[in-house]
Amino acid sequence: MNSTSPGPDENASRTAPDPSHQAGGEREEQLLKHFLDIVTLASCKAEALPEEFAGIENAQALHDLLWGIRRLAFSLSNGQLEYQCRERGFVVGALKAFQSNLRHLTWQAQRIAGGEYHHRVSFLGDFSIAFNQMAEQLGTKIQGLTSLSEEYKDMSYKDALTGLYNRKAFSQFSGQYLAKSAGSQAGGVLIMADIDKFKSINDTYGHLCGDEVLRSFAAKLSAGLRPKDICCRYGGEEFIILMPETSLEAGVNIAERLRASIENLPILFEGKQIRITASFGLSEVIPTLAGDIPEEYINDCIRQADENLYKAKETGRNRVVSA
Ligand code: GH3
Ligand code: MG
Ligand code: MG
Repeated sequence: MNSTSPGPDENASRTAPDPSHQAGGEREEQLLKHFLDIVTLASCKAEALPEEFAGIENAQALHDLLWGIRRLAFSLSNGQLEYQCRERGFVVGALKAFQSNLRHLTWQAQRIAGGEYHHRVSFLGDFSIAFNQMAEQLGTKIQGLTSLSEEYKDMSYKDALTGLYNRKAFSQFSGQYLAKSAGSQAGGVLIMADIDKFKSINDTYGHLCGDEVLRSFAAKLSAGLRPKDICCRYGGEEFIILMPETSLEAGVNIAERLRASIENLPILFEGKQIRITASFGLSEVIPTLAGDIPEEYINDCIRQADENLYKAKETGRNRVVSA
């Protein structure tokens, strides 16, 4: 799409008049005589005539002029804006100005269709006002819809209770991480974290208390991570963390630190202080092993971390297992 405004083209070649109107015979001579009679009746002198008629010497010239004006007016009435009229004078000039305005308006409508809602028209009176209102309202509505759709998109990636990203977001982010690190030797670590005996908290203190525990747990986890780490609620009281460019040894240390911070986290609910612990299972994520199907590879890593989490539960809970 052309981004510059089209202007009227004054240098167009003249289109030949329709042959059926070109006879130049008796009828045109009569027409010219009739025209001059009208001028005489109106007591006009030749030099006082509108400029259109200044150079008219015969019926053919009059015919050509009127035909040019007619074609220009006809093309405008059809919305065909390409016709280039070579004639001159006030009437032709006014029609050409209108043609040029319509061309500019068409260009502006195309820009608005392309998302440039700031375009405004100032040369077409009432129509300008209506057009500008339309462009403004369109811009405002599109802006509202865009921010709403971004809000919904964000919501669809987040867990409403904890504010962390959800499982769907994890799939996407882990896929992006593997795609970005393809071929890289720097591996990462995946952690599955699960609150110990969480069901008993619900059973003892109620679900609202359980919800508060989940919120506090999520906040503590994410506070202990780097900005580049991806922490998501995987479901229920299970959380998943992907730590890029992290050795398994470093991952174990981080998980151990998280475990200790949870163990020491006092959670207050309705005046009661609740203590929890959590278990952690780890696996290594090596981008070079992801191959062509990163989703399958990341599922293998999740399975491995899950097995280690199960071992942590089996061996007494409140621990980190990576082997
Ligand atoms: P384990 O130590 O073996 O992990 O035992 P657990 O009790 O933590 O595990 P279990 O899978 O038996 O129980 C998990 C409970 O988490 C069951 C479910 O009702 C509860 N739960 C899941 N989602 C939510 C939630 O959003 N809010 C609350 N309050 N409870 C939830
Ligand atoms: Mg649990
Ligand atoms: Mg669980």
